[in-house]
Amino acid sequence: MKFSYANTTQILFGQGQIGAITKLIERTSKVLVLYGGGSIKRNGVYLQVAEALSDYHWLEFSGIEANPTVETLDKAVALCKTEKVDLILAVGGGSVIDGAKYVAAAAHYDGEGWDILIGKHKPQSAIPLGAVLTLPATGSESNANSVITKAATHQKMAFAAPCVLPRFAVMDPDVMKTLPEKQLVNGIVDAWVHVCEQYITKASGALVQDGYAETLLRSLKTLGETFEDRDNDLWRANLMWTANQALNGLIAVGVEQDWSTHMIGHELTAIWGVDHARSLAIVQPWLLRNQIEFKRAKLEQMGRNVFGLTDSEDLAERTIDKIEAFYHSLNVSTQLTEHQDGKSAAVDAVIERLEHHGFTALSENQSITPVEARQILEKAIA
Ligand code: NAP
Ligand code: FE
Repeated sequence: MKFSYANTTQILFGQGQIGAITKLIERTSKVLVLYGGGSIKRNGVYLQVAEALSDYHWLEFSGIEANPTVETLDKAVALCKTEKVDLILAVGGGSVIDGAKYVAAAAHYDGEGWDILIGKHKPQSAIPLGAVLTLPATGSESNANSVITKAATHQKMAFAAPCVLPRFAVMDPDVMKTLPEKQLVNGIVDAWVHVCEQYITKASGALVQDGYAETLLRSLKTLGETFEDRDNDLWRANLMWTANQALNGLIAVGVEQDWSTHMIGHELTAIWGVDHARSLAIVQPWLLRNQIEFKRAKLEQMGRNVFGLTDSEDLAERTIDKIEAFYHSLNVSTQLTEHQDGKSAAVDAVIERLEHHGFTALSENQSITPVEARQILEKAIA
């Protein structure tokens, strides 16, 4: 095992913490507040932020969509360039925080911002960022990843750069009170798949990473099983913290990672607008079945340690069935049924995009070529 690890995001966790951002933002900083479609205006989060910033010079940019688009974000980039902001404060879910990361990096670049997504520009510097999280799911509040969509071409691409890691993140579980049930479920599923992408690979023998991943999976399973307690403070706090820990870098160190479910899922979102988490649930069970020989040992370990299954020859198969049943218990479908196209046209559309993006050897084994991707999609798309 060999790795270098730091996660330097200062986390302010707990009820009533939004006001404490003043302790982390220099009084003389010019702050740009970025937010989405207005949920923060309706639930009082905007007011809390505005109150905290009352002694600061700050401006705002709103309208960042779910699955944020480069078309919208480039307007915020232009604003950063003319206003010379010192800090970007992202107030929202993964979309707003991911969008803020793009804005922060693109504002330090003279070329087309989309170059960052296609790997033509690797950001080395960015405007400093902070986050007030309103939707626990992505871990974006304390990781260096960002997923951005180009609406014009229906492309959804990711980048990662240490310079866009948020300096701080406020995680106040009270902000979750206005989240629709669907978004809470999405949070559980997205965090679950994040852990799986870093865990269901080759048996690694990494006791800390495996053990922690299993703890996070058991926590998410419990949160799903106790979904009726979702109005309880502790339930909310547990989801917020679990989703954060699921993708803050720790369980990924020194082990192989997959991410193919995300890469294929992104195409479903880009083409049909499927919610991110739901795209993952559609792809993952079929992908695991397709790749079972590579992942058998880890699936068996998960079966024992997460689902409490007893040994049998088909333990890995039963573990995948349990994962699928977990999604179904949350009323999350594991097949794409809502699309306009016929099934074969829909499968072709995804394959064409994967090939166009060069995603022709996905997974930790590079064993998902367009042939395997097609087999997976034939099952995943109804
Ligand atoms: P989201 O797209 O940020 O938000 C979904 C919806 O929830 C929005 O319509 C938003 O409305 C609303 N919302 C947010 N907070 C709310 C609250 N407290 N009360 C009521 N409504 C609220 O959802 P997300 O799942 O967090 O982010 C998904 C995006 O993150 C996808 O683009 C995905 O690809 C990406 N992602 C990133 C990472 C990463 O590591 N960076 C990992 C996985 C996925 P408003 O717009 O009105 O606020
Ligand atoms: Fe995700």
